[in-house]
Amino acid sequence: MKVHNINGTSDNKCKCGSWKAHWEKFNERKNTWPKYCAAYGCLESATVGAHVQKDSGTDKWFIIPFCNKHNGREFQGKSIEVSAGTSFAPANREETCEK
Ligand SMILES: [Zn+2]
Ligand SMILES: [Zn+2]
Repeated sequence: MKVHNINGTSDNKCKCGSWKAHWEKFNERKNTWPKYCAAYGCLESATVGAHVQKDSGTDKWFIIPFCNKHNGREFQGKSIEVSAGTSFAPANREETCEK
């Protein structure tokens, strides 16, 4: 599956304190925070809960674990293939922590 990541949402905080904490509470497979970035083949540490949209989907936003590089400028707006086992958390606060 491919996703893209758009700038300008990282300072949009939720009640969980960080988007990493938000992902830990609400990811669909109830996974613990992974060691590696969700980008396919990336062996950097997962450090941030990144806001992404699925390329073939609705305009819903999700949080997935990314490294600094994949959440950074270089990849803004670009399609990124993610690992098959990636667990997504809905980013919509009204559906999750602020329900
Ligand atoms: Zn939250
Ligand atoms: Zn990465």
